[in-house]
Amino acid sequence: MGPNPTTYRSAIAEEQPMSSEPFPPIRIDPETGQKLFNTRAEKASERIAGKGYGVVSDKELLVLPEFKADAAFDDEQKALYRDFNEVRRGTDDYMKMEGPLAHYLEDHYTTAPIERESLTDESEIIVVGAGFAGLLLWYRLSQEGFTDIRFVERGGDVGGTWYWNRYPGIACDVESYSYLPLLDEMGYFPKQKFASGFEIYEYCQKIATETGFYDHSLFHTEVTGVEWDDDAERWTVRTSRGDEMQARYVVLANGVLTTPRLARIDGMEDFAGESFHTARWDYDVDLTGKRVGIIGTGATAVQVIPEIAKTAGELFVFQRTPSTIDVRDQRTTAPEEIEEWKNEPGWAEARRERYRKLVGRRALQANDEFLAGKVEMPKRRGRGEGPRPSREERLQRDLETSFRIMEQIRDRIDAIVEDPDTARALKPYYPYGCKRPTFHDEFLPTFNQPHVTLVDTAPLGVQQINEGGVEYNGVQYDLDVLIYATGFDFMSRETMGRVTGIDGRSIADKWEQEGTRTFLGLHTNGFPNLFIVAGPQGTGGSFNFLDAIEEHSSYLVWLLTTMRDLGHGVVDVREEDEISFAEHCAEMDLATAPLRDCLSNFNQYGRAEPGSLAYYGGREAGRRRASAQETLAPFEFRPA
Ligand code: NAP
Repeated sequence: MGPNPTTYRSAIAEEQPMSSEPFPPIRIDPETGQKLFNTRAEKASERIAGKGYGVVSDKELLVLPEFKADAAFDDEQKALYRDFNEVRRGTDDYMKMEGPLAHYLEDHYTTAPIERESLTDESEIIVVGAGFAGLLLWYRLSQEGFTDIRFVERGGDVGGTWYWNRYPGIACDVESYSYLPLLDEMGYFPKQKFASGFEIYEYCQKIATETGFYDHSLFHTEVTGVEWDDDAERWTVRTSRGDEMQARYVVLANGVLTTPRLARIDGMEDFAGESFHTARWDYDVDLTGKRVGIIGTGATAVQVIPEIAKTAGELFVFQRTPSTIDVRDQRTTAPEEIEEWKNEPGWAEARRERYRKLVGRRALQANDEFLAGKVEMPKRRGRGEGPRPSREERLQRDLETSFRIMEQIRDRIDAIVEDPDTARALKPYYPYGCKRPTFHDEFLPTFNQPHVTLVDTAPLGVQQINEGGVEYNGVQYDLDVLIYATGFDFMSRETMGRVTGIDGRSIADKWEQEGTRTFLGLHTNGFPNLFIVAGPQGTGGSFNFLDAIEEHSSYLVWLLTTMRDLGHGVVDVREEDEISFAEHCAEMDLATAPLRDCLSNFNQYGRAEPGSLAYYGGREAGRRRASAQETLAPFEFRPA
């Protein structure tokens, strides 16, 4: 349990009632002498603060077809999987939103940036990003007395992913009782099992308000350069607002899905209607009665499509690869549950601890009885007494299970979607988990509505856009609005290219030349006092992104307090330890690759070097971390 949140109440909250004058953008805290900020630029709008979506009334949609425990992943089925992959090889062609496409990055959710002078002062810690990781770091570090922290955020408010993504239907797909940070500490109970994105965003604002986070945040400020001065043992952080700030420590906490991207399609700039990306939803564009097209059917589109079908006059869904659509079974949080939790201090942490034991589809299903601690986890099918199966045997068993899950997913499509051609096109042919597994109970029935058309553009995707809309296979689809649900650059290295270390190289250059090398995903040699939260090699194995953020925050609290206690001012990590960790990441990626034998965003469509993105080593990172904390052997310290 954390302390009473009121001890963190922001200076704004306490001083504001005395005067109707708003605080200036920068003021001095009389107690600490620190600069405090008022740079939040939230735009209040009914439309932007939507409500997400709720519980389905047709319970038939929650019934899964029979699980065929004997279905064999035989040679014929394996060949289908292989073919599916092969025809898609090289089809991914994405581009950044630059030049004439830069307007797709425009922020619709904010008022104009708050004017302020540029800063040239020093803080102990500068954190890049004000999403979940920033909020959690502030809470945990300030508890330990580290309050000279400054957060630098591109957006106009807190929330990160949940600030930028406000599309209709947005919700988390990890159960919210295990996903939202600081529930125990904030005394907050999510309204639904899978909270809407709007609720999550407002919850982030609540945390920020109640913990004084806003006072420490520079919004509408993009980090443009971070340079280490080895003599001064300080970082210089430059920003888009002309700041040139010093810091002893820098934390990169800017997320893994922050850079939206567009598929490269001829004629995009010729389209005469309205168009936008899902991560910058434009609520000024009214879809009512319009002819709407959406490109992409990933995890985002699966949530968007049922919602916009409710208002669009006609909806065309341009699909290249179908998603895995499981049963979602949304429910509102029961009043009795809340009463129970109120009497169970630490309930959320205990629940998240149990959630960590769930892998694959079980994590998605998030069984309430198990998560509430009322039942034990059922044994895995076929796991009886006897010796533990070998890695190969486990792999084989997991492949069979993956195939059977996918069979059930495919059968569900047949059970719900009426048109056989549409049903066929919606069936995914890849191992479970290749793409982010999704769930929804309104997505499949949407395709039974007469005004909704699935346009199967496999395997190459949409190739041509023109003034009127999309042209595919000789057919012209005239559109008023075109929505790009084409995703993000996963674990983008954009920020890594802006951070230069001891030898003047950027992290991106170092990794380009030597391969991706980190220790625990958190440190990279030659970049002292710089920490990466939930970046390459630091996260990926867990279904719940919060696990990595929690682990990394508690690690940083440990490291900084240890350094303070031991009188150290600088920490770097030994090269041999990061080489060994990087080798382990590559080895585990290769060993588990057959389970993800498909082209996806998570492996840069087959081009990523093994071990360069997500971490697949299970508990080993935790063991290495524990050993490092005990021996301090991987670290090179310098005195303060
Ligand atoms: P995404 O998974 O990368 O999906 C992009 C979509 O665009 C894919 O379906 C892709 O097809 C399609 N596409 C690209 N070019 C195309 C073309 N020329 N023609 C037709 N289709 C084209 O992006 P996303 O849906 O935004 O999801 C990104 C990640 O965000 C997910 O993996 C997930 O981790 C996260 N997410 C999480 C939640 C949550 O609730 N936690 C919700 C939404 C998203 P291909 O598959 O063939 O490449």
